[in-house]
Amino acid sequence: MQISQQDVHQALERGEFVPHFQPIIRLRTGQLYGFEMLARWAHPELGLIFPGDFIEQAERDGWISELTYQLLRKGLKEIAPLPGEPTLSVNISPPQLHGTSFVDQVHEAAAEANFPLNRLILEITESALAEDIVSVSKTVQSLKIAGCRLALDDFGTGYSSLLHLQSLPFDELKVDRSFVSSMTQKHDSRQIVAAVVGLGQSLSLTTVAEGVETEEQAEILLWLGCELGQGWLYGKPVPAEQLDEMMKRRQPH
Ligand code: C2E
Ligand code: CA
Ligand code: CA
Ligand code: CA
Repeated sequence: MQISQQDVHQALERGEFVPHFQPIIRLRTGQLYGFEMLARWAHPELGLIFPGDFIEQAERDGWISELTYQLLRKGLKEIAPLPGEPTLSVNISPPQLHGTSFVDQVHEAAAEANFPLNRLILEITESALAEDIVSVSKTVQSLKIAGCRLALDDFGTGYSSLLHLQSLPFDELKVDRSFVSSMTQKHDSRQIVAAVVGLGQSLSLTTVAEGVETEEQAEILLWLGCELGQGWLYGKPVPAEQLDEMMKRRQPH
């Protein structure tokens, strides 16, 4: 898909980028833990466009920062008033962790929405860390001091993931969907998930399984000691308008 600069400019100006929210569930109790915010482009003619079609370009052409800030402001406002103090997990792109502007944006958006920063989780992928670890570390330090939590996303898919695990103060480990989805067919995948969950436990990290689609997977994950799960079994990402309905289904109180 080809996106022109003008399309993007207009879309950002008109606020066509919207957050969708996917529930993250406590596997043991089925209770809601929080939401992951996922970007969608509500295009007036083309309909809903998925991040696979624009995030890379946003990173390349330098509008990822503006996009994230818009989404963050919208997302924090939606999640702040929900009962049960759910967390919000936000995907962060590599270039954003250089310099100080992202830290300022987080503070501004959180203050505006009255969202406590200890409920904000920043999801970082391994590729983000391959860049300039010194500069990234500084940014991450200030975000941690502000109370934000840090998740290592797509764990196990990049190279030297173990190296990255010790380079930054992570709180969560997200087990990539590829391991979870093949877990019921492949003994090896199951062993890998078991090892990752064990690693998380020994490092006092919360483990989150991505792409949980079946009860069988959920049972195995629970049995392996994985704390949190996310996937179609619990709900697909939904727009803000559907959050209330989702909360009713999830929360008894
Ligand atoms: P991700 O961070 O790994 O997010 C999880 C992706 O898996 C989402 O795709 C979600 O819709 C999908 N998913 C969740 N549960 C299931 C399941 O049970 N089965 C299957 N088959 N898929 C599931 P989505 O929304 O298309 O996002 C794709 C990727 O785009 C994300 O992967 C993330 O890396 C990136 N992304 C999304 N929003 C943002 C954003 O605001 N900023 C940045 N930098 N990246 C974003
Ligand atoms: Ca993510
Ligand atoms: Ca992921
Ligand atoms: Ca991914």
